[in-house]
Amino acid sequence: MLSLMSIVYTHMFLLKKILKVLKIVFAIAQTYSTRLRSKDRQASWAYLRYACNNLFVSFCNGHFNAKRVFCPCCGWSGYDFIPIDGGIFWVPRMVCPACLSYDRHRAFSLYVKQYDRRLLETAGTTLHVAPETYVAILARQNTGHHYIVTDLFFERLQAGNGTPFQSDIQQLSLPDRCVDTLICFHVLEHIKDDRAAVAELYRVLKPGGVAYIMVPINTTFEETQFFGEPNPDIYDHYWAPGKDYHTHLGIFDSCVEVAPEEFLSPEDVFRYGAPSKEIIFVCKRNG
Ligand SMILES: [Zn+2]
Repeated sequence: MLSLMSIVYTHMFLLKKILKVLKIVFAIAQTYSTRLRSKDRQASWAYLRYACNNLFVSFCNGHFNAKRVFCPCCGWSGYDFIPIDGGIFWVPRMVCPACLSYDRHRAFSLYVKQYDRRLLETAGTTLHVAPETYVAILARQNTGHHYIVTDLFFERLQAGNGTPFQSDIQQLSLPDRCVDTLICFHVLEHIKDDRAAVAELYRVLKPGGVAYIMVPINTTFEETQFFGEPNPDIYDHYWAPGKDYHTHLGIFDSCVEVAPEEFLSPEDVFRYGAPSKEIIFVCKRNG
């Protein structure tokens, strides 16, 4: 009797597993077909690759005790980072499944902790534009500075856990030369007149201050492209920054481009899931 119950239980368990897999396959097929109708074959193929990779990596993270990768933002380790579905494209190894940090957050965290400790050690005022949780956690490790955060949307200010004020980056409600350290990641590509926003960042920075700026550079573009209006296929970006994006930051007195491949070995780029070529612009104001 006991063994009969055990057989039934085993089969029920198996049946539940099969139903779960069928449900996932059906959901993927449904999204694939919707993407094919609403966009094109390339977008639906990108979705399929994303979905298969996501399934595989999630399975490996859940079932294998692998410690191949490590997240410097939260300390998680596992088989791999999970991909993101960008609508018409997909990006593998992007998100930490534990803290949801992106590859750029992990790269900046390593850069700041190991190679440029100004954000962690400089006193004075730090301004974080459009604060991201993982960069804010890093900035808050500096107990000797005044940490202020700003965003166009009030509800997004909570992520920063700093002194908040709502502001348009093209017209910051701050006096001239009041900020020692500035962080602005993946914001400028959303601004039609991005040079006006850059001029504002320069205006509020003190002489000797440093601004850390990142935009999603497409290294296959020699020249930055302007869409003219928010592009719904790429997160409503006005700009597709190319290799020449540093020219948009020309108002700064110096602007050094740092890529993770310069300060991490290829093994560490893989281990930390860092974007090897994503540029951190380290911009300074002298006078
Ligand atoms: Zn993490």
